[in-house]
Amino acid sequence: QHVTKTFVVDRDWLGRPVRQLTAVHDVSLSLAAGETVGLVGESGCGKSTLARTVLGLYPKTSGTILYKGKSVDDEATGRAFRRHVQMIFQDPYASLDPRMTVEDIVAEPLRNYHLERDKADLRCRVTALLEEVDMPAEAAQRYPHEFSGGQRQRIGIARALALSPECIFCDEPISALDVSVQVQIVNMLQRLQHERGLSYLFIAHDLAMVHHLSQRIGVMYLGRLVELGPSDALYHDPRHPYTQALIAAIPRPDPHYRRHDVLAGEVPSPLAPPPGCVFHPRCPYTQERCRKEVPLLRDLGGGRLAACHFAKRGDAV
Ligand code: SF4
Ligand code: MG
Repeated sequence: QHVTKTFVVDRDWLGRPVRQLTAVHDVSLSLAAGETVGLVGESGCGKSTLARTVLGLYPKTSGTILYKGKSVDDEATGRAFRRHVQMIFQDPYASLDPRMTVEDIVAEPLRNYHLERDKADLRCRVTALLEEVDMPAEAAQRYPHEFSGGQRQRIGIARALALSPECIFCDEPISALDVSVQVQIVNMLQRLQHERGLSYLFIAHDLAMVHHLSQRIGVMYLGRLVELGPSDALYHDPRHPYTQALIAAIPRPDPHYRRHDVLAGEVPSPLAPPPGCVFHPRCPYTQERCRKEVPLLRDLGGGRLAACHFAKRGDAV
């Protein structure tokens, strides 16, 4: 709730911050058991920073992170949260220690939590985890560089599963992979969700794929959550002009469909966000009010929220 993450980018000679960058600005988002929430937006919009801040990989600047209704600042809640919410990353190679064998990588969380009985038990668990991600038992004694990108992502997923999490934050887990491998990984994540009752926060660029995977979608722009809603409703009837632009830019197989690249200009620097609505310099509907007044994330009915002064209410398409 109301999570903000600010990075200091410059300090004066006394170490006092002189320039700050707000990567995540007042974001509130929930994730239910078994649910997949997709999070989309252009690179640099704060999706990964939000996920990392919620997981405590970055200290939050302000806001509250609740796990089953309790703040994770509470020690016991925080411990349970860190165990039950795991993360997989865009670049599986960077997130796997090249000097460790696959067995050590996958077993590491079990060791950290002292969950293994003995060496044979550990080996047995690692084999089972590898099997769950369709990797052979022999992979255990090899090193990350011996595998392809898709296989490395499977290893990363096996490690994330080691503590039997309830939830996995997937930070663009397929963006770096070939299209055919992307489909395999997505299918596997869906199977694992079904078998284990997992929830996912699924961060991606590809709105069409996120639509396919998620029950709800959140759209971020310049660190703000600008739209949130049920996946189908948001995809077929986007209410925020930024979401409309993202969807209009999706390539379609229909030869008569003209792709609209309505998103003019660059994303403004988060060091100097525009006043009023942060989207106003790129929005095709900007009016005077937008330059001055910050639009709040308003409830539009039907589980839909949008941060635009002119977003229409109601759930009719
Ligand atoms: Fe566009 Fe104004 Fe809505 Fe912002 S508030 S998205 S500038 S119409
Ligand atoms: Mg990212």
